[in-house]
Amino acid sequence: MKPLEIPEAIRLQLVDAAHAGAPLEVCGLLAGREGRVDTFYPMTNADASEDHFTMVPEEQFAAIKDMRDKGTQMLAIWHSHPASPARMSDEDIRLAFTPDVIYVISSLVAPAAEALRGYAMIDGVPEEVAIHEI
Ligand SMILES: [Zn+2]
Repeated sequence: MKPLEIPEAIRLQLVDAAHAGAPLEVCGLLAGREGRVDTFYPMTNADASEDHFTMVPEEQFAAIKDMRDKGTQMLAIWHSHPASPARMSDEDIRLAFTPDVIYVISSLVAPAAEALRGYAMIDGVPEEVAIHEI
């Protein structure tokens, strides 16, 4: 799996969103072209939960329409882990239905080098995808 490239400005948006939403999980979509993210679409966590999330469908549809208008693709589904490492939880794995996206998790408790990680679901098993800062 090719690495996902995320510019520093967007990494900072993810950290800010994760902190702003804590202790609840927050979520969003990352879009761009050819594995390079150029837009973060923050989404409301309809569950308002500390350990899982559900995106609001209307917000998802609006983001996907905007991607179509701009000619970009949904590259990743992002959410925060306010109190756990940046690893796919059992629930994350169970609910990872969307094909051909990378699941990106920001942890607020992991050391900086492990705070942002990406995973591709391969036959139901998460495999880490490198995230490159650009
Ligand atoms: Zn999670």
